Amino acid sequence: MTSLPRSADVLVVGAGPAGSACALELARQGRHVVLVDQHDFPRDKTCGDGLIPDAYRALQRMGVLGEVLSVAQPISHLRCIGPRGGHIDVPGTMAVLPRRTLDHILFNAAVRAGAQPATPVRFEAPLLEGERVVGARLKAGGQTVELRVPWVVLATGAVPQALIAAGLCERHTPDGVAIRGYVKNDAMRGRIDKLEVIWHKRLSGGYGWIFPAPDGLFNIGTGVVGSHEVQGDGKGTMRGVNLREMFAAFCAVYPPAGELVQGGTLVGELKGAPLRCSLRGARWSRPGLLVTGEAAGSTYAFTGEGIGKALETGLLAAETLLEGGGDAAIEQRYASTLRALQPRFDLYEKAQHVNNRPWLVDFVIWRGNKSAGIRRRMAGVLEETSNPGNILSWRGLTRLVFE
Ligand SMILES: Cc1cc2nc3c(=O)[nH]c(=O)nc-3n(C[C@H](O)[C@H](O)[C@H](O)COP(=O)(O)OP(=O)(O)OC[C@H]3O[C@@H](n4cnc5c(N)ncnc54)[C@H](O)[C@@H]3O)c2cc1C
Repeated sequence: MTSLPRSADVLVVGAGPAGSACALELARQGRHVVLVDQHDFPRDKTCGDGLIPDAYRALQRMGVLGEVLSVAQPISHLRCIGPRGGHIDVPGTMAVLPRRTLDHILFNAAVRAGAQPATPVRFEAPLLEGERVVGARLKAGGQTVELRVPWVVLATGAVPQALIAAGLCERHTPDGVAIRGYVKNDAMRGRIDKLEVIWHKRLSGGYGWIFPAPDGLFNIGTGVVGSHEVQGDGKGTMRGVNLREMFAAFCAVYPPAGELVQGGTLVGELKGAPLRCSLRGARWSRPGLLVTGEAAGSTYAFTGEGIGKALETGLLAAETLLEGGGDAAIEQRYASTLRALQPRFDLYEKAQHVNNRPWLVDFVIWRGNKSAGIRRRMAGVLEETSNPGNILSWRGLTRLVFE
């Protein structure tokens, strides 16, 4: 489907949730936008496939929520399970849909809105006039092509090569790594009907999950945030994290995980992938170029959820460009819209300490099951209806212990 024009208003690189959301919004407002990805669609993306409330809201704004829900597994609760086996169910508006299908829906929606797709096309480097980005050098069908555009949006996810080529990567290593597999197990249908997240000392630094997808398919995986030692130059090495061993430990310590895998059929391979979190690790812009989605670190530390905020930041990048103005004004406005999201990312970064102290989950479960107020606040964090500042305040923490 490679078809590159000679020019356009905006080039969006990467057709994951962030890039497709950005391209859809720009095209809807009449901009000539070219949406490229190094893969043809549909394509797989290693993910847990869980859609939490922020994703719901963004999908609604894009006008694709109905289409997504017509094929997704609806979910009403997140179940947090502690090392001692206790649990608490947090209500929320959620769903599960394999990314192969979700991203195809988003990509097609952007194209229907008028974005011009070109795949497989790889971003190699920005074209520069002085310090300003004026387009991109792309690899398409074995050929190198130059596309000149007023603005490039990089939505290339957690792999840093495009960020490095654009001169915006501040940290080469990811914040975390995770592995997931799909297991088909009809006998477990209905037995696991929530987003299950499990903490245990053998999974210390992270957690395990089982998310029920449609048709008796389950997404099961484990992940760790804080997986890399970072040096001053932004490069680094992985600490002794072995995701496959962690996955095996998960199946050993959480009996339903073992039962699911042993009694089911693994569909495809176990696959690992990096995560970039907390709106850190890259500069968000330079003249002529905005960075959005996970490339800008839009995934939550602690939970590793990022589809919703990838969509949201993609829409914010589009809105910023649509408002127009000079380079400096665009860069400043974009930075201030991302900064407004920072308190939520900070909340999830602070909560990340729980992954290193799984016994704390037992405490929160014990407290939460005794207090309707705590359960309401947990639901408020998930639904993003509560102010993160209030929860992290001294008063908020005191209420967790004493309420
Ligand atoms: C194992 C795992 C489990 C996860 N589970 C969840 C979950 O359950 N729920 C949740 O909300 N989030 C989850 N996440 C996080 C989620 O996957 C990301 O936050 C989300 O995919 C980010 O979207 P994005 O559009 O920014 O990037 P991506 O989805 O990574 O899309 C980037 C796109 O850019 C393309 N690209 C990259 N480089 C180039 C290039 N040079 N040229 C052209 N194209 C390029 C890629 O092919 C890709 O299509 C998980 C992540 C992992 C690793």
